[in-house]
Amino acid sequence: PGGFLSGGQAYVTFALTHHCGTTVVMSYGMGVDSTAILLRWLTDPSSRDFDLRDLVVISADTGGEFEQTITDVQEVVLPALRAAGVRFIQVGRSRRKTTAHGGGVAVLQDSTEPTRLYAAAYTLEDEMLSAGTLPQIGGVRTCSIHAKGNCLDPIIAAVTAGRRYRHVVGFESEERSRALKDALFNTDRRTGWYPLQDWGWDRARCSDFIAALTGRRWAKSACGYCPFAMRTDVGRQNVAARWRREPQKGARALFLEHVARSLNERQTLIEGSSAANLVTSAGLGDVQARFGAMLDECEYAVYEVRRLTRRSSAQTHGRGITARSVRAVVRGTRQQMRDELARCGGTRVIGGDGIVRHFLRERGEQLPALEHFFVVCPAVVEDKERPGFRTWWQEATSHDVLF
Ligand code: SF4
Repeated sequence: PGGFLSGGQAYVTFALTHHCGTTVVMSYGMGVDSTAILLRWLTDPSSRDFDLRDLVVISADTGGEFEQTITDVQEVVLPALRAAGVRFIQVGRSRRKTTAHGGGVAVLQDSTEPTRLYAAAYTLEDEMLSAGTLPQIGGVRTCSIHAKGNCLDPIIAAVTAGRRYRHVVGFESEERSRALKDALFNTDRRTGWYPLQDWGWDRARCSDFIAALTGRRWAKSACGYCPFAMRTDVGRQNVAARWRREPQKGARALFLEHVARSLNERQTLIEGSSAANLVTSAGLGDVQARFGAMLDECEYAVYEVRRLTRRSSAQTHGRGITARSVRAVVRGTRQQMRDELARCGGTRVIGGDGIVRHFLRERGEQLPALEHFFVVCPAVVEDKERPGFRTWWQEATSHDVLF
């Protein structure tokens, strides 16, 4: 059975059929590590202790993957899975909210004869744009949890249907601590399994193995705008090189950053710098031109942004809790919105990012710290206000004439 998601993508309705011997479930991230494991298992039976009929490979689409990775997987991995008759399940989000029981998760294909990768109807980029934010470097990788973990977990639970299974994750030989952390999620049914650690394979070994087998240097799997991939000089050079080959990915990254930054000047994809700077310094004119075309084409809004940082009632030290209220005041063309912004009053400030904001209140150093401004931004951000924000704002401004 099959059909079409709202975005027009084909999907196959997920039937809970399974081979009774299913014992090995692999989260396939399409990167070097998990590809090396998979290709070795498919080509070298002595490298595994199970029958390929007992293997289920599951992949979650974030919607942001580089084209090169998609092409490589379609041209190398899918034919190998087909030839071996391995079950491959592709999943992705069908809407913003996902639940632990699989709500909001779509099975894009479930087949032993996969021929192509399918795109999720709701992508991580959609989520980021509608919230006017970026994947956050600090703390847990919530972007990955939302776009991958929340999709994979309910499907793995459905596929294994209460039986014991080994869950394969592609941690390299040098990623011992990540494996130890992952093992904390073992249960009486799930046992994390890290074959690269058993084999003593690091990334270079995985890459060489794939190159020898396929003639291709496998690229790192990542969203085209991943801030984690741009944390180091080498990482930034690699991303810039990939944007040169896939300028549309670079343009989308700039667009994502521009939207988030319009609402918060401090939000960039590169700490202490920005993707915009990287594009300029790397001389990526094609990326810049495509980004400019995206800005020319979109609808705009004047957004009212209020941000408040206050002390936590539980914790009186630290940086405090920040809450934000974002509201589209009016929509139209870019020029119309620039004219509207001029009528908003406040102090006109051109930020270090070149974006014009009209401030009714600039952020101070003391807590509670309040910020209140109007800005023109592509009209992709949904109105949003954290519960409690209104009360907090009123408390903090109750002695002001300025609301
Ligand atoms: S590749 Fe980067 S941005 Fe994409 S889900 Fe993973 S950590 Fe988040």
